Amino acid sequence: MAEFDFDAVVVGAGAVGLAIGYALGRRGLAVAVLEREKAIGQGVSSRNSEVIHGGLYYPTGSLKARLCVEGRRLLYPFLEAHHVAHDRCGKLVVATSPEEVARLDDILEQARVNDVEGMARLSKAEAQALEPELACEAALISPESGVFDSHGYMLALQGEIEACVGAVVLSTPFEGATPFAGGGFEVRAGGQDPATLACRYLVTAPGLSAQGVAARIDGFPPTRIPPVHYGKGRYFRLTGKAPFARLIYPPPIHGALGTHYRRDLGGQAVFGPDLIYVDALDYSVDPAAAAGFYKYIRKFWPGLPDGALAPDYAGIRPKLHGPDEPQPDFRIDGPEAHGIDGLVALFGIESPGLTSSLAIGEETAARLGL
Ligand SMILES: Cc1cc2nc3c(=O)[nH]c(=O)nc-3n(C[C@H](O)[C@H](O)[C@H](O)COP(=O)(O)OP(=O)(O)OC[C@H]3O[C@@H](n4cnc5c(N)ncnc54)[C@H](O)[C@@H]3O)c2cc1C
Repeated sequence: MAEFDFDAVVVGAGAVGLAIGYALGRRGLAVAVLEREKAIGQGVSSRNSEVIHGGLYYPTGSLKARLCVEGRRLLYPFLEAHHVAHDRCGKLVVATSPEEVARLDDILEQARVNDVEGMARLSKAEAQALEPELACEAALISPESGVFDSHGYMLALQGEIEACVGAVVLSTPFEGATPFAGGGFEVRAGGQDPATLACRYLVTAPGLSAQGVAARIDGFPPTRIPPVHYGKGRYFRLTGKAPFARLIYPPPIHGALGTHYRRDLGGQAVFGPDLIYVDALDYSVDPAAAAGFYKYIRKFWPGLPDGALAPDYAGIRPKLHGPDEPQPDFRIDGPEAHGIDGLVALFGIESPGLTSSLAIGEETAARLGL
């Protein structure tokens, strides 16, 4: 039997890899989280909406439905205990046409099946009493939705891992792994001081690089590596006073929750993300895209002044489906999927990955039998 340098190696120090490191550390394992960048949280986890999702929409029985609700229930107490800024501001799902009113009933029913707390139907007058600048036919309220400081959250996770005798090792790319015959892995790490580590468990949570990382694990069946698609989402910022206190979401579009409104923790209004499929990791925001944003936003906020939107930032979703394909679930693949004991490989951790992260950590530990 090999002697192990660490009980577990986790690839990727985004919100999900760090939450997995935390879950394993809490079980008494010595964990090394390998991150190729100079700092934690520089990937998908730094380019998103920072919304704590209620868990309304996800299909019955999916990992997204279960882990979003479980993750949210774990996340608020974690943020409170670690003094990470957050605002349980609530969210309105708004119907701006008679056709969308019928969709609210479906969303409310799915939220009930998903065990989301506190959901209620609001008339136009009730919604406008809460948010006077809102235009809508009817709405749903989700009081458990909120916003948070995702970077503060990741720093808190790093602190917890280090307090549990683990290490977050920066500037250290994972370059490959070979399973030992008797169990465990030899892991090859690059960077300035390339090293080889032996560990009992290996977990890959490298976001947009999930497919490339899995391909560098000897024995990982190529047929079990899903295709990768990049789903870019762009944001525009309002130059002016934030019009609403709550999150405002029209019903979801195919493949994403759609462009929504949030007031960030600094009090500024942000709109986005849209969804466009791209071939490269290009984070630019074309100012010309503003025209579509004005049209869309004015359906629920007719008071949006001309010239008030400024290009802000973009994020890229690690999608497993193309534009016309059904949206698949998270993939948290254990040995039953790829045949390698002691390995969990994550794919397609797009939204609601941040909200779900603590529950993904627990689920990953369970898949390892821990
Ligand atoms: C536009 C957009 C909006 C979103 N909004 C929300 C939201 O409001 N709420 C929500 O819950 N979710 C949201 N999400 C989803 C959420 O952001 C992601 O699910 C989550 O951040 C994924 O975290 P991660 O740790 O898996 O990936 P990442 O944060 O990308 O972390 C992966 C890490 O692995 C590292 N890495 C890659 N390759 C290697 C290697 N070979 N060796 C070492 N390290 C490596 C990367 O550098 C990176 O730091 C959104 C996503 C997008 C794109």
